[in-house]
Amino acid sequence: LVCTNCKKQYPIDRVYPRCDACSEPLEVGAENFQPNINQGNPLTQTILDRYSAFFPFKKTNNSLSLHEGFTPLVDSPTLAQDLGVARISFKNETQNPTWSFKDRGTVTGLNLALELGYTRIGTVSTGNMAVSVAAYGAKAGLDTIILVSASLPPEKINPIAIYNPTLIKVEGDYGKLYFDSLEIGKENNIYFINSDVPFRVEGSKTIAFEICEQLQFEVPDYVVVPTSSGGNFRGILKGFEEFKLAGLINKIPTMVCAQAAGCSPIYNAFINNQNSITRVDKPNTLCHAIDNPYPPSGNQVLRKLKEYNGIAVAVSDEEVITAQKKMASFGIFGQPDSAVPLAAIEKIHREKKLKKSDTIALIVTGSGLKYPSALEKHRMNILQCGINNLNEAIKSTLRKPTSLKAN
Ligand SMILES: *Cc1c(COP(=O)(O)O)cnc(C)c1O
Ligand SMILES: [Zn+2]
Repeated sequence: LVCTNCKKQYPIDRVYPRCDACSEPLEVGAENFQPNINQGNPLTQTILDRYSAFFPFKKTNNSLSLHEGFTPLVDSPTLAQDLGVARISFKNETQNPTWSFKDRGTVTGLNLALELGYTRIGTVSTGNMAVSVAAYGAKAGLDTIILVSASLPPEKINPIAIYNPTLIKVEGDYGKLYFDSLEIGKENNIYFINSDVPFRVEGSKTIAFEICEQLQFEVPDYVVVPTSSGGNFRGILKGFEEFKLAGLINKIPTMVCAQAAGCSPIYNAFINNQNSITRVDKPNTLCHAIDNPYPPSGNQVLRKLKEYNGIAVAVSDEEVITAQKKMASFGIFGQPDSAVPLAAIEKIHREKKLKKSDTIALIVTGSGLKYPSALEKHRMNILQCGINNLNEAIKSTLRKPTSLKAN
């Protein structure tokens, strides 16, 4: 493991995910990667297997997998035309086993945990990470400790509880819980797969790997990531870096860190040219999957934005809701957080920063079905009629066949 900031090195079995010298996050060091992709059949293969040359595991434990990853990259020619770009695609992470990209990092975290001899895992989360770790812990038959804040509503608790983990609602400072859990984990031999720990970041690399494969190794010009802790952003970028090191691709995309304006510590620091983030006092956004007020990987995301000329964008909740509806018009139903990339690229478009030749990938991180209460924000179009009037009612809605469009 290497410190992302001061480059100090640590053994791979160190569990505490931050540097003793500078407190910044650690990551798995890059090696001289062979350009090897195990060309198996994605219907039966796992991401652990396909990309094993890019993981530091001694061995791959495929039995841990719920067949995460291998998600579609869905083009939208209509949207590309709207934005005046060559190609725009949605990386649809809602098709993962627990409906978010988190499953990728859970399986890589779990692979390491078992390699290190742990029989207990855990996480601190308010949503998707908790669901994911609970599901994988259940499949593996491990003691699984899920810590959530006491204020979490039943709508979010029950989809975790169904997997029957040890689920604890913890009263007190939720930010402190991230660090306390690591200490408690050390004492009790529980491997905590928290938001931005090195082996969760390893899993997110596979999003970049798949995008490269899906685009025949033509790297997109922009990759837009809704960002909270920064773990996923770091992982996706690391994936592109490692494919470039291996000689599989020849450039790194412009990475866009997309945040909700009601909680945008990374964006704030970026536009003010600061090297470190400042805690957001009171997060105020409906995007609860990305409302971490003090992202543990925030400074590292800033360093990477600087290194590669990346961009940070913040969008309002109104823009997010509009984008969520618009994304559905292309057949993709993401949770509000996952519509943030579309809202962000539209903002970049309005600032006339996009070129005709540009290709763009938007990361749709999680499913819209996860948070039904956000749907109340939309004006839905629903008709009603008596069964005897059904034929007329339908007829009145029909368009001429020529006006049908293919999205
Ligand atoms: C976890 C999550 C994010 C944020 O990812 P980070 O790695 O914390 O930056 C974004 N969208 C969804 C749906 C998530 O579940
Ligand atoms: Zn350091």
